[in-house]
Amino acid sequence: SAFNASEAKPRTRSAALYTEALEHIVGGVNSPSRSFKAVGGGAPVFMKRGQGAYFWDEDDNRYIDYLAAYGPIILGHAHPHVTSAIVRAAENGTLYGTPTELEIRFARMLKEAIPSLDKVRFVNSGTEAVMTTIRVARAYTGRNKIIKFAGCYHGHSDLVLVAAGSGPSTLGIPDSAGIPVSIAHEVITVPFNDLAALDAALERWGSDVAAVMVEPIVGNFGMVMPKPGFLEGLCSAARRNGSLVIYDEVITAFRFHYGAASTFAGLPEGTDYAAIEPDLTALGKIIGGGLPIGAYGGRAEIMAQVAPLGPAYQAGTMAGNPASISAGIACLEALREPGTYERLDRLSAMLEAGLAEGARKHGIALTVNRIRGALSTHFCDHPVTNYDEAQDTDGEQFAAFFRYMLEDGICLAPSKYEAWFLTTAHTDEDVAYTIEAANRAFARMKA
Ligand code: PLP
Repeated sequence: SAFNASEAKPRTRSAALYTEALEHIVGGVNSPSRSFKAVGGGAPVFMKRGQGAYFWDEDDNRYIDYLAAYGPIILGHAHPHVTSAIVRAAENGTLYGTPTELEIRFARMLKEAIPSLDKVRFVNSGTEAVMTTIRVARAYTGRNKIIKFAGCYHGHSDLVLVAAGSGPSTLGIPDSAGIPVSIAHEVITVPFNDLAALDAALERWGSDVAAVMVEPIVGNFGMVMPKPGFLEGLCSAARRNGSLVIYDEVITAFRFHYGAASTFAGLPEGTDYAAIEPDLTALGKIIGGGLPIGAYGGRAEIMAQVAPLGPAYQAGTMAGNPASISAGIACLEALREPGTYERLDRLSAMLEAGLAEGARKHGIALTVNRIRGALSTHFCDHPVTNYDEAQDTDGEQFAAFFRYMLEDGICLAPSKYEAWFLTTAHTDEDVAYTIEAANRAFARMKA
C-alpha cells in the first residue's frame, strides 16, 4: 500500500522548501494555522497535488486528507464538476468589474437553501463577510458594541480578534498586537452555551449592543452543538434588547445538510426553528467550491443599509468574480445530489466509532465530538461543550497523535482545536485505513 509507513520517504524536499520559504514569506506560511508551531514545530508538509481524498507531498508521499483546506473542500480535491466550471470561467475571463447573470443565479441558489437571506452580497473571504455584518448591524441599530462567544473564530478583522475580559461584565482585550484597546472595548466575550453569562453582559451593556454574533454550531474549538434552548435563549435575549443576531456560518453552511446550520434537522430535539432565525448570516468556505469567496445576507430592511442603497459602505474589486461564483454554483450543484450528506454521515460515524474504540482499547482518554461529516478529537476524559473544556485537553498527546498519523499518511490540521472533515471523495477503505493508523498511533503513544 502507498500508505505503508515503512515505505514513507523522508520529507527532505518539504524541509528544504520550508528553509527557502522562511527567507521570503513571513514565517514561511501564508496563514499561521498552517505552521507546525502548535504540534512541536518543524517544517510543515509542502503538498504538490490534491486529487479526491488524497494529497501528494513534494517527496511523493501520499496522504488521506482530513484537513479539506480547513473546510471548503467538501467534494474532495479537483472534483470534475467544479474543475470544469472553473476552466469554463477562465476561458471566458475571470474578472469583469460588471454585474453578471451568474451572480443572480448563485444568489437565488443561496436564498432557496437559506430562507433567512432576503438579500445577499458577495465578498472574497469569510473575514470580510463577518466584518461587514458587524458594520451593517451597527449602521442599522446605531449602536457600537458586539457580544461574541469565547473560542469562536470569526476571521482576523479587528473587532473579532478580541479575547474575553475577566467576566461578562468586563470589556474585551486585544487578542493581537496592532488592535487598539479602544476597539477591543467595543466587544464583550462570554462563554458558549452559557445564557446566564449572556444575560449578565446584556444587563451591563445592553443599550450599546448592536449584535450578538455566534457560530450556531461551533467549528472552531472542535465541533460543538448548542445545548437545547441555547440558540432560542440567545435570540430572544438579543431581540428583547433591540440587538441583531448574526450567525457566522462560514464553516457550517452546507456542511451538515443542503442549507444552514440554523435550519439543520440535527439541532437538539425540540429546537424551535422559527425562534432561532438570524437577522444576518455570514458565509464562506464551501460556497466557493475551493476558490476565494465570502457572502453575507439577511433581512431586506437591514441589508438596505448597504451601499449603494444605504449609508454603510462595502465594496470589492474581486467580489462576485465569475470564477469563484462558477465554482460555488458547481459545488452546490454537486452537494444537492441525493445521498451526499448521508454518505458523509455514514463514513464519519464509522470513523468516530473506530477512533473511540481504538482509544478505549489502548487506554487513552479521548472525547470525539461528531456532527455529520465533521468531527473533532479531544484528548480528555470529559465532554467538550465550551472553550474552557476544549482548552482543558492534552495538547502534547494531540501533537504526538498528529505526528504519528502524519508519518502513517494521514493529514490532519496541526491544532488540537481544528475539526476533521470528511469529503464525498473518501471511501470506506480510506476510513478503515485511518482507523488502523489511529490504533498504531495510540499504541505508540502508550509505549
Ligand atoms: N468565520 C469562521 C467560523 C471561520 O471558521 C473562519 C475561518 O476559518 C472565518 C470566519 C474566516 O474566513 P476566511 O479565512 O475565509 O477569512
